Amino acid sequence: MSHTFKGGVHPSYMKAPDVPMTVIAPPPQVIIPMAQHIGAPCIPTVKVGDYVTMGQVVGENPAPVSAPVHASVSGKVVAVEPRHHPLGDMIMSVVIENDYQDSPCTDMKPLTPEQLKDPDAILHRIREAGVVGMGGAMFPTAFKIRGGIGKVDKLIINGAECEPYLNGDHLTMKRYPEQLLKGIELVRIASGLDKAYYGIETNKMDAIRILRSHYPENYGIEIVEEDVKYPQGAEKMQVKAVTGREVKPGGLPSGVGCNVVSTRTAYAVYQACYEGKPVIERIVTVAGSALKAPVNGLTRVGTPFGYLAEQCGGFVKTPRKIVLGGPMMGICATSFDAPTIKGTAGVLFFTEEEDRDVEKPSCIRCGKCITVCPMNLEPVFMYMYYSKGDYENMAKYHITDCFECGSCSFNCPARMPLTHAFKTAKLMFQAKSMKEKAAAEAKEARK
Ligand code: SF4
Ligand code: SF4
Repeated sequence: MSHTFKGGVHPSYMKAPDVPMTVIAPPPQVIIPMAQHIGAPCIPTVKVGDYVTMGQVVGENPAPVSAPVHASVSGKVVAVEPRHHPLGDMIMSVVIENDYQDSPCTDMKPLTPEQLKDPDAILHRIREAGVVGMGGAMFPTAFKIRGGIGKVDKLIINGAECEPYLNGDHLTMKRYPEQLLKGIELVRIASGLDKAYYGIETNKMDAIRILRSHYPENYGIEIVEEDVKYPQGAEKMQVKAVTGREVKPGGLPSGVGCNVVSTRTAYAVYQACYEGKPVIERIVTVAGSALKAPVNGLTRVGTPFGYLAEQCGGFVKTPRKIVLGGPMMGICATSFDAPTIKGTAGVLFFTEEEDRDVEKPSCIRCGKCITVCPMNLEPVFMYMYYSKGDYENMAKYHITDCFECGSCSFNCPARMPLTHAFKTAKLMFQAKSMKEKAAAEAKEARK
């Protein structure tokens, strides 16, 4: 049986899995933003002049949808102020001057063998360690798992890693197979399920063989080999490939009884529970033609992008764009001073070679965008109505169901800025509905 979905594209993957993983030397200063997850931002728990140990909590929020943030180095807090955030805006951050001692915080001990079998103890630890969706979604993992208990019957671990360039998950599978399987087992136990499905694309057969040699069945895990196709790593596509279930437009995997957790998140759960280690580092793919020496680097959270580039030998060409994540779904960062956060899987420094815009592109009505849309949308018409600002027809063509995978733009011979347009259109719809809601509330208040 073929494990995949309808539509999708085959970009040049530009992966280099045999490039050994390096350790990026921690920077002189780390910047720890208080917002590294979806939900309530953290409130700083330290002040300027405090000494912090590596792994110490420096920000938290008791709201259920939140996750604490931790110091990724030891040293002195030199600023608590808004700093550039990788996703735009200035966000409250704790800046720590590295004393290069990596003096560890000992607040979190590894869980005991009994606790490693106890769903509540595991969930408590996942929250305490600040684990969020590290595939990029950054949804607090403990909240996600807890919300699925009793409603979700299929746990899927996402091992597709279908974005070009990115290969941190592939490396994690090969370097830490046993730890990863133990992490998945913990997520499975916390979810109250007997089995987890690990969906991995077959361009990672070396990793699949290594994982199988560690007997995943002993951990209650079945590996599902998936066809190689972008965007196989999107949650909805994982659900379809593994279970055959269709997530309705606007719906979530949990709506069809599935929860999807990323490879790197499962590994973070292992570290939190077995090692007592919070999320303070991750593998980041640092690449792009502007860089002298691209790497997969184990990188401390809070490492500024400019410093990362220096650690890769600096630039050989002037970068035109910093892309966070992969080139298909990634977003552009606006400052070299912004730091890596928990959800940063890749930092790509692109030149015009990778970023060729066409001036005044014109649609040739070839229909190629329609054939690849995994959501069965009709991008050519969505774009036409977006250009006219025609909300009624944008809604009729379900523009808000687009999940911005970039397949249509990739397949468009005219290089129409389709995905960018749909992203903007979704924001326009959001603003419109907020305005309408405010107007309705004002009207109600006047009664
Ligand atoms: S319309 Fe949206 S979901 Fe469909 S291919 Fe384009 S970006 Fe992907
Ligand atoms: S692929 Fe591009 S050129 Fe072809 S119909 Fe779609 S938008 Fe037009």
